[in-house]
Amino acid sequence: MSVEKNAAPAIEVRNLHKSFGSNEVLKGIDFHVDQGEVVCVIGPSGSGKSTLLRCVNRLEDPTSGTIMVEGVDITDPETDLDKVRTRIGMVFQQFNLFPHLNVLRNLTLAQRRAKRRGKAEAEETARRNLAKVGLADRAEAFPAQLSGGQQQRVAIARALSMDPDMMLFDEPTSALDPELVGDVLEVMRQLAEEGMTMMVVTHEMGFAREVGDRVVFMDGGVVVEQGRPEDVLGNPQHERTRAFLSKVL
Ligand code: ADP
Ligand code: MG
Repeated sequence: MSVEKNAAPAIEVRNLHKSFGSNEVLKGIDFHVDQGEVVCVIGPSGSGKSTLLRCVNRLEDPTSGTIMVEGVDITDPETDLDKVRTRIGMVFQQFNLFPHLNVLRNLTLAQRRAKRRGKAEAEETARRNLAKVGLADRAEAFPAQLSGGQQQRVAIARALSMDPDMMLFDEPTSALDPELVGDVLEVMRQLAEEGMTMMVVTHEMGFAREVGDRVVFMDGGVVVEQGRPEDVLGNPQHERTRAFLSKVL
């Protein structure tokens, strides 16, 4: 299957500003993710990475600027946000699984409500995605019976069960014990290899270097520099990028 040459970018953000009260957190961001591209967003704590990611599916309302998702302006009041959101899978630092539901029910709930799938189809989709993240045998477990890394893989499988066109990850491994990080990154790497469009906020520089098509460095609410991972991480052009990398590499 060939990708249309002039297909709209998956995500296109233009001159995005976001303030919380008098605190201007995003100061004119231009950012895009092409279809099939893996873009890793790095930068110090407080630089606005999560706010940018959250604006992309309107968990936050932008103060000004435009955000296009697959060519649709999601800042337009006429846009059906629920419809756009079903195309965007989100994975957060905290896994946000329902503790009182087993893994299978965690994966079928949104499919049945938002996608109106029947039980059999929802369960089949859930089991397929559990297998994909290496947890086919844990469908009946409750979240508390799983490690943090397993819970995060369930959260990824849950997002995938909605058949999203793109996945947004906000520091998906930051809450995990170090020995559990690798399995989650491996699932993400596999997704990337399958061609999933991904925006990944991460402190995992190895992942950014090996899996990212592009790395975007943010600091103080602006994109300071971006480019190929080997360039941004290996030969940064800006002092602020160098200072950041010297602390995390
Ligand atoms: P990062 O993800 O890069 O660490 P964030 O986007 O979370 O940065 O935060 C950037 C700034 O925005 C911080 O100063 C933070 O306190 C502020 N901020 C984020 N969310 C809110 C909110 N809901 N209300 C007020 N301030 C917020
Ligand atoms: Mg953040």
